[in-house]
Amino acid sequence: MQKVITRRKKTIRDIEVQGKRVLVRADLNVPLNEDGSIADDTRIRASLPTIRYLCERGARVILCSHLDRPQGVVVERLRLALVANRLSLLLDRPVLALQDCIGPEVESAVAGMNAGDIVLLENLRFHPEERADDPAFAESLASLADLYVNDAFAASHRSHASIVGVPEHLQAVAGLLLAKEIDTFTRILENPDRPFAAVIGGAKVSDKLGVLENIIRRVDLLIIGGGMAATFLASLGYGVGASSVETDRLDDVRRISAKTSELGVRLLLPRDVVVAGRLDSGVSARVVPVTAIPDDMIIADIGPATASEFCQELTGCRTVVWNGPMGVFEVPEFAEGTRRVAATLANLTGTTVIGGGSTVDAVIRFKLADAMTHVSTGGGAALTMLAGKSLPGVEVLDDVEEEGP
Ligand code: ADP
Ligand code: MG
Repeated sequence: MQKVITRRKKTIRDIEVQGKRVLVRADLNVPLNEDGSIADDTRIRASLPTIRYLCERGARVILCSHLDRPQGVVVERLRLALVANRLSLLLDRPVLALQDCIGPEVESAVAGMNAGDIVLLENLRFHPEERADDPAFAESLASLADLYVNDAFAASHRSHASIVGVPEHLQAVAGLLLAKEIDTFTRILENPDRPFAAVIGGAKVSDKLGVLENIIRRVDLLIIGGGMAATFLASLGYGVGASSVETDRLDDVRRISAKTSELGVRLLLPRDVVVAGRLDSGVSARVVPVTAIPDDMIIADIGPATASEFCQELTGCRTVVWNGPMGVFEVPEFAEGTRRVAATLANLTGTTVIGGGSTVDAVIRFKLADAMTHVSTGGGAALTMLAGKSLPGVEVLDDVEEEGP
């Protein structure tokens, strides 16, 4: 079986950090409310173990992150000061928010730091050079520190300056969150307890082709739900009413289906579905078998018989990875299939790994996140790993020196 990651990467546990100036690329890209306050601080909390570890060992901690998409200019409501306040509250120690991420004022603030101090640089994306992976910008960031730590799993699929540029200049290691994410995905992809199932759903097949192609080589069972089930059903000749079918992906879907049977992987598709005229709350919805989807109706969720079958099958699994909701869970009438799969995984004794922005949102909304083995902090990065590809931000980190023969 092909390896996902061939070389082990150093983490902060492998090196001396005492007294060092450590630049930590964290993912503090929290969702904001309309009034600019923090809507959910999961990502800030996920970054705490690495920050605490470094502070407790006497490092001088220079945090950096992006927030949202300011398009390379200063946007007042996207300053990181409010994130610094929340961090300070959670850590119970001061976190100084700086007004920029490079330049003389930042340099003098860093020069004045003592062991255990924490500063947070300003939103990296106020500079267009961040997304452009500009070498001079990366060098300026690197010049602030003796050591670089990547703990931003959710940004590690991007070749941005703070992710791939800075490590060219410094000793570069993984933080605790990054290491946990990589270890979890690597373990389930390379060495899962079996039976191993993947539940794949969400809006479109085209977003998930890479994941499907890779995962079918590794799982015993593949379960398909969500909007993309329509394309699978259409590929088998079912009428799917007014559901959107990716006609340019029918051949890919047929190839994936054929490959599953060739590999002896069981493929489960919905047998009944919840259909509605529109995907909005308040519209009348009903359950129909997939053989009788009315022409003017759209598939909005898996049906109850399907949910029972999926959950029954998952109960027998020892590893389950889930990406993509089973229906339009944002609308209460179409949330039941997603909720039942989430509840089944929450009760599973085996390993349960949840990846993907919407899937994670759903699990959090159902208050089941704590019951899962691992809820990934990365959307695109999780999909990249599930597709069997390495992350640029991980590739550039220092390798663990292997013992000689
Ligand atoms: P993730 O972010 O977890 O990777 P996706 O982005 O692929 O998941 O898909 C999430 C979206 O898919 C959700 O907004 C959900 O409403 C939508 N979705 C799920 N089922 C359907 C469906 N039957 N029709 C249309 N959209 C759907
Ligand atoms: Mg998504």
